[in-house]
Amino acid sequence: STYYVGLDIGGTKCAVVLGDDDFNIYEKVFFETKVERGPTVILDEFKQHIHRLFEEYDRKKLAKIGISCGGPLDSKKGLIKSPPNLPGWDNIPIVEILEQEFGIDVAIQNDANACALAEWMMGAGKGTENMIFLTFGTGMGAGLILNGKIYSGTNDLGGEVGHIRMAEDGPVGFGKAGSFEGFCSGGGIARLAKSTVEHKLKNGITVGFCPSAEDIDAITAKSVFTAAIQGDWVALEIVKTTAEYLGRALAILIDTLNPECIVIGSIYARNEALLKPLVYKVLEKEAIPEALEVCRILPAQLGDKIGDYAALGVAMQ
Ligand code: BGC
Repeated sequence: STYYVGLDIGGTKCAVVLGDDDFNIYEKVFFETKVERGPTVILDEFKQHIHRLFEEYDRKKLAKIGISCGGPLDSKKGLIKSPPNLPGWDNIPIVEILEQEFGIDVAIQNDANACALAEWMMGAGKGTENMIFLTFGTGMGAGLILNGKIYSGTNDLGGEVGHIRMAEDGPVGFGKAGSFEGFCSGGGIARLAKSTVEHKLKNGITVGFCPSAEDIDAITAKSVFTAAIQGDWVALEIVKTTAEYLGRALAILIDTLNPECIVIGSIYARNEALLKPLVYKVLEKEAIPEALEVCRILPAQLGDKIGDYAALGVAMQ
């Protein structure tokens, strides 16, 4: 069979996978992105892994490299443009760089679009005509499947919902305070939690999951959710804010696109039990009832594999 190499470039983790047309995965390596290392160092790490695969597998059978990466990007020109969660990756001609290095075809797609296709073909969105996928990981982006086709917009910016303003002020996401990515992303939740905890501690309020100001730096979205599940009220307050804005954004998407389902990744998928009832409370208030009635809000089903399938899918297109 034909083999493909898939690269998943995320704000937190990167992966290189080797798989075939049936999405069997034979090799996977991943490494932490550590964005401060910058694109050149990270690209070198990718190249090393791909070179090794080229040595170990029959080169003639390797058909193509597919890349799934956070946008904004230009898939036609093969450019990573200015992703908010990959600072310093401005106008990187990644397709050309890798084509020159390996003499093989390379394609790139926005990660949200690529993951939407993966969940649509093999996961929670199977069999639907109109589906929205939301990444809700390090960043917030949407992949839109409309009338049975991916919709990427006029210049690849369709689905950049993380940029939408949800409030006059709030945590920064996508370079904008109070944006959807600010409230609903790993980085945004951590920023909101840090400022909330700082404010409480300054006012002499006890914060169970972060008793001292010295611990503020270590707060992550994950630690907030863990504390909220254990009943910490400050953590719960932060999660409620996240759920409030997630619900409002979902209502906008439901009212605009009238989808059959909205599939939500990472943070939602891991914390569905906590988030779902909170989000539905908002949806029942905010969305058109007849549109809400036909729309299922589902956790992504592919788990850790989603990025692998997404990147391989880009190679196969
Ligand atoms: C980017 C999107 C991307 C999302 C998830 C956002 O910051 O703008 O293009 O899909 O992060 O990585």
